[in-house]
Amino acid sequence: RAKAAGGNRYELADADSDARTIARHDLTNCLPGALENGEFFIEYQPLVRLSDGTVRGAEALVRWLHPVHGVLGPDQFIPLAESTGLIVPLGRWVLEEAARQARAWRNDGRCRVPLRVNVNLSPSQLRYPALVAETVAVLDNAGLDPSALCLEVTESALIGADEEQLRPLRQLADLGVDIALDDFGTGYSNLAYLRRLPVSTLKLDRSFTRGMQCVPADPVDVKIVEGIVSLAHTLDLSVTVEGVETGTQADRLRILGCETGQGWYYARPGPPERLHTLSLADAASCPRN
Ligand code: C2E
Ligand code: MG
Ligand code: MG
Ligand code: MG
Repeated sequence: RAKAAGGNRYELADADSDARTIARHDLTNCLPGALENGEFFIEYQPLVRLSDGTVRGAEALVRWLHPVHGVLGPDQFIPLAESTGLIVPLGRWVLEEAARQARAWRNDGRCRVPLRVNVNLSPSQLRYPALVAETVAVLDNAGLDPSALCLEVTESALIGADEEQLRPLRQLADLGVDIALDDFGTGYSNLAYLRRLPVSTLKLDRSFTRGMQCVPADPVDVKIVEGIVSLAHTLDLSVTVEGVETGTQADRLRILGCETGQGWYYARPGPPERLHTLSLADAASCPRN
């Protein structure tokens, strides 16, 4: 945790190679204790308004500083947390921590605009009966307006959900919480279904924005992004793009009408203290760490 807070860089181990070396049961066994021992920490990655480069907020991305294996990325333990039920308390902790952090950014006064925070929700959390009540309580305790929070839900978590199962999300949306459809485009959404979902933002998966890095841009990817943006805007949804790694890519996605960008071009996920600096700098001139 100290290492992360100090802002030292490390690379998250590649999930595949790690799966070979770290036994699944080993991680599963120490997962519950890890939450009690405070071994989780959050990195924040800025969300940037493409039209003018302002930092509008950040996505909270959880990491586990394992006493033996070092820093593990969410792909290595979220599926385990999900299958063992620990995701509910872990997700609650992430939400509390992220809300506390958003409050701290707002109190600090050095940010250009009041920063919002994005938190990922997993499928079990959506089924957890106290989700709405707990989220409202967390926002209250942090003194945050619901619009300061965006909850990211993957497309695959919502596929096949009926009105009853969507109710918690709809209640949160009605309260003013922003709901984003994460990894959009990877889950075979039925497009007619999209208009029934209580979402306000599509987060376009990295696989669609990759072709925008090439010179010239991949013409098929350009058409796909164009189509998705036009669909999103017809449905009154805004578009956030993941995986913005180059300036050319950022320009193209802005010209195609995407509202918000996130990616290594602006900043890698990092400690919360860095948001002040990033918010004050012109995002385009941010260090490309
Ligand atoms: P996601 O929500 O789609 O998050 C974006 C992922 O893309 C992050 O990976 C981020 O580090 C990575 N990324 C950001 N910019 C770039 C870029 O320019 N290039 C490339 N190649 N990658 C980029 P990370 O941190 O490993 O997180 C993986 C996934 O784990 C997240 O995907 C999210 O679904 C899940 N996750 C993270 N934190 C939480 C959490 O607190 N709760 C739950 N349920 N899931 C979480
Ligand atoms: Mg996400
Ligand atoms: Mg995503
Ligand atoms: Mg993704």
